[in-house]
Amino acid sequence: MNKEIVLSGIRPTGNLHLGNYFGAMKNFLRLQEEYKCFFFIADWHSLTTHPRPGDLSENVRKILVEYLACGLDTEKAAIYVQSDVKEVIELYLYLNMNAYLGELQRVTSFKEKARQQPDNINAGLLTYPTLMAADILIHRANKVPVGKDQEQNMEMTRKFARRFNTIYETDLFPEPESYTFPGETVKVPGLDGSGKMGKSEGNAIYLIDEPQDIRKKVMKAVTDSGPTVPNSDKPEVIENLFTILRAVSSQDTYTYFNDKYNACEIRYGDLKKQLAEDIIAFTSPIREKILDISANKDYMTKVAAEGAEKARESASATLKEVRKIIGFR
Ligand code: AMP
Repeated sequence: MNKEIVLSGIRPTGNLHLGNYFGAMKNFLRLQEEYKCFFFIADWHSLTTHPRPGDLSENVRKILVEYLACGLDTEKAAIYVQSDVKEVIELYLYLNMNAYLGELQRVTSFKEKARQQPDNINAGLLTYPTLMAADILIHRANKVPVGKDQEQNMEMTRKFARRFNTIYETDLFPEPESYTFPGETVKVPGLDGSGKMGKSEGNAIYLIDEPQDIRKKVMKAVTDSGPTVPNSDKPEVIENLFTILRAVSSQDTYTYFNDKYNACEIRYGDLKKQLAEDIIAFTSPIREKILDISANKDYMTKVAAEGAEKARESASATLKEVRKIIGFR
């Protein structure tokens, strides 16, 4: 077991799709075997854009259920809800005291959000990077898996960590690094020819989808009229089908259809039927677990409480040091 600490935040926005699974979840499952991991659902963050989140607790519950169903293990990792760990807010306050208006205003994602919601440029939006820094620094995490869009916020976190260490002449906070998953991370395409699979793209196949819905979605996938020259390159829409096939099907199945394509004998109807059945075979056990876990309210309550306890233990140890260093009794 590696001694370093990994932390990842999850936005409570809707159900998980195949892109989330192959792009992120598979890596989380590996990380929890190798590192001390903290995975948290970022419900406070969502208030920066949605001040009256009607279904916040339902969204949080849904995400928690799906993460557990995919195999995140409460024995191995701390899985918790951000708002259950109040220590984070106190650290957020201290970090805000040494975060400056100018640097916060220059953050690209702040400027973008300010443009998108000109009637709600709130202080939470401005101090999003300090809350993110508090999430990370409260556990003194070393590695944070983030997408490119979060890189600037990670830079801010490192800056706040350095600044705290300098002002208070301490080495309390390690500078966390942005962690890119080693090896090739699969980018799962949508089946509508529009690029990436995503919630907002409306082209996602969800882990919770019923078999008949998966069949419908796959059969509607965009294709072309088929190759006429043997061994020709696949156009993007066809490559997309094969990318998903590679993720969910056996090597034999992949090779079978790939050979058919190369021999100009492919029938896309057959390929889609097989792809749909293989997606169903892949998602069905997860879907059943989602339904089982959802039905077990006591278990969910226990998981959330245990996760919060683990996270608070680590968080309060850091906060105790922080208070001492700043000079509180
Ligand atoms: P989102 O729910 O869109 O914020 O996605 C959460 C995470 O899932 C992202 O940070 C990516 O790591 C991963 N992800 C989302 N969509 C895809 C996709 N189509 N292919 C691969 N990874 C994805």
